[in-house]
Amino acid sequence: MKATLAPSSLISLPRHKVSSLRSPSLFLQSQRPSSALMTTTAASRGSVAMTAAATSSVEALQEGIAEFYNETSGLWEEIWGDHMHHGFYDPDSSVQLSDSGHREAQIRMIEESLRFAGVTEEEKKIKRVVDVGCGIGGSSRYIASKFGAECIGITLSPVQAKRANDLATAQSLSHKTPLDRVSFQVADALEQPFEDGIFDLVWSMESGEHMPDKAKFVKELVRVAAPGGRIIIVTWCHRNLSQGEEALQPWEQNLLDRICKTFYLPAWCSTSDYVDLLQSLSLQDIKCADWSENVAPFWPAVIRTALTWKGLVSLLRSGMKSIKGALTMPLMIEGYKKGVIKFGIITCQKPL
Ligand code: SAH
Repeated sequence: MKATLAPSSLISLPRHKVSSLRSPSLFLQSQRPSSALMTTTAASRGSVAMTAAATSSVEALQEGIAEFYNETSGLWEEIWGDHMHHGFYDPDSSVQLSDSGHREAQIRMIEESLRFAGVTEEEKKIKRVVDVGCGIGGSSRYIASKFGAECIGITLSPVQAKRANDLATAQSLSHKTPLDRVSFQVADALEQPFEDGIFDLVWSMESGEHMPDKAKFVKELVRVAAPGGRIIIVTWCHRNLSQGEEALQPWEQNLLDRICKTFYLPAWCSTSDYVDLLQSLSLQDIKCADWSENVAPFWPAVIRTALTWKGLVSLLRSGMKSIKGALTMPLMIEGYKKGVIKFGIITCQKPL
């Protein structure tokens, strides 16, 4: 069920209210059965009608995601700041960067993504932005400041939504940037509480990998985009299958399964699968790229910070999900090195 918010009232709710609009367990019950692009293999078998068991596994997944980010976001922010995504580096850069160097690489990721999608600073058309899977709002605040746009972020984690709103308020109050038109709430990307066609920019930075139904995810992104609006999906993918290949190799699937378990990810898809989905919806200017080489220094850097004294103490304080997450990081490096994991960007424009 969609809330009927008029565009002008898009982010007019006070932050303390929007952050507690719905608890994850409440809105998870409203998940409706749907077809799913679960994996390339599943897609090739045609649409999969979700059974009651599948629906409840979506609920369990989403509760897991909410709990994971409730527990780990504070630790991430303490060590890495408010951007919970890979940095963008020059390929083959062997320089050991400082903390601020990595932060710059994360900002560069946002800038490169906007550039790739053809959204430039001159583009005054970006008035309203939705940040789908917003974390603690790093992208939202950055993009809102850059374009002077209003921005609303959605996440499954109530802890993240509250922190994101607090950070926006603090930055607004300190007059660094006028962020009073930025807000965050708990909501599901697969059933967004927005009217059709209201966002000039639909932004999804590293949340697509959490979506159990890629077709529904993409449909929702397209639905809320304004005519002429841009959609940017930056996400973890598996490699494209070669012609005649039906599925990943068993060892590749096994590697991904181990990562999925810790990071609360359903089955992955490839960038080609996203392109196919966008083409099937008649989107324009569809582009994709493999940025795996540009993100290579990221996970080694995260592991290095986890192994510092501060990192280890924070990790132990934070809890089991964080510890398991840290132990899984080397698998991400292995996945990239072996070419199973790809860091993909997929962008397009909704026809006018
Ligand atoms: N884009 C942010 C955070 C990435 S972490 C950043 O770059 O900093 C992944 C985010 O996706 C988390 O905030 C998580 O809550 C969100 N997410 C995962 N599945 C979601 C869903 N179904 N609906 C809304 N948000 C979701």
